[in-house]
Amino acid sequence: MKKNICLLPGDGIGPEILAEGVRALKAVAAKFGHEFVFEEALIGGAAIDATGEPLPAVTVEKCLKADAVYLASVGGPKWDEIPPEKRPEKGLLGIRKQMGLFANLRPAMLLPELAGACLLRSDIAARGLDLIVVRELTGDIYFGEPRGLETRDGLRTGYNTMIYNEEEIRRIARVAFETASRRRNKVCSVEKSNVLETSRLWKAVVQEVHADFPGVELSHMYVDNAAMQLVRDPSQFDVILTGNIFGDILSDEASVITGSLGMLPSASMGASGPGLFEPIHGSAPDIAGQDKANPLATILSAAMMLRLGLGMPAEADAIEQAVRAVLREGYRTVDIMEDGMTAVGCARMGELVAERI
Ligand code: NAD
Repeated sequence: MKKNICLLPGDGIGPEILAEGVRALKAVAAKFGHEFVFEEALIGGAAIDATGEPLPAVTVEKCLKADAVYLASVGGPKWDEIPPEKRPEKGLLGIRKQMGLFANLRPAMLLPELAGACLLRSDIAARGLDLIVVRELTGDIYFGEPRGLETRDGLRTGYNTMIYNEEEIRRIARVAFETASRRRNKVCSVEKSNVLETSRLWKAVVQEVHADFPGVELSHMYVDNAAMQLVRDPSQFDVILTGNIFGDILSDEASVITGSLGMLPSASMGASGPGLFEPIHGSAPDIAGQDKANPLATILSAAMMLRLGLGMPAEADAIEQAVRAVLREGYRTVDIMEDGMTAVGCARMGELVAERI
């Protein structure tokens, strides 16, 4: 099969880790007889330096006509003084919006090979951690109007609006139920319906959508309890379905407890058109250009791209199995290093994975 993949290397460690993801994809193409055509585009600080804009129009065009978009990371201290509307991170929000990516899927998984890195007590970690947060990405309090800063009764006052309509809830709920039906058939919908009207609507619509997925078990949890349960017993979760702000927080929590930020991939999908696949971590400016970055989150994002974006599940399995093989053989980048293991840099780690594919 021939597929066009738009590459967005971005800033910091971005170009280094994306090169290793591309190496893995080339190994997959050779093994399975596919042709992947790569086209690069600018985003974030790199785009600001070249064009003055964090998201040039030509980047949006290239992304929209690709079969999938593969992003590394954006941002860095060099662009911290730029006004907020021109910052590298605006490129990221902009591309999600322009591509209509309303569903963000973030798996958090504790690989047995990396159990030592987990931040949880060993008896809790032993029960396992293999969940996915399905987060709504284009609505909620981050985008709701009205919003602003003003003076009321002589006091500086800030306000935002938490808002969802039923269609926005329905489409993300469907993604969660479909995802669960390919996993362990459990959805936990997380909201705050004891205090928020938005959450009451959320819960009601999720229950309606559930009627179409009788094989999937649905439970509901308040967000404060969910934050607690994630550290108390994450093994109870399969798919966590939630809105934009709660999902932002819970997905970071779920991933950090695995102890290895450099290991976790993500996918963002729309109703149609290409998806966007990227590691969850940032551009790690502190280690950029030193061949120290862990490329595995980026490589595993390529696996998500193959499975969810390009309909190639066997190819995705090949990448995931190669990653686990390399870890089993004891190779580690510095962020996941443990006693007795073999330290390797970013490029060597990428080579090892590609060889095993
Ligand atoms: P970060 O994720 O870049 O780094 C946090 C810590 O984790 C650092 O110590 C870093 O060295 C380490 N780290 C991250 N990824 C790693 C990897 N693959 N291998 C080894 N170590 C890794 O977060 P930050 O320091 O808060 O942000 C740095 C920049 O990245 C900021 O400009 C921020 O806005 C941006 N950022 C971008 C994204 C994105 O592109 N999606 C996400 C988060 C932050």
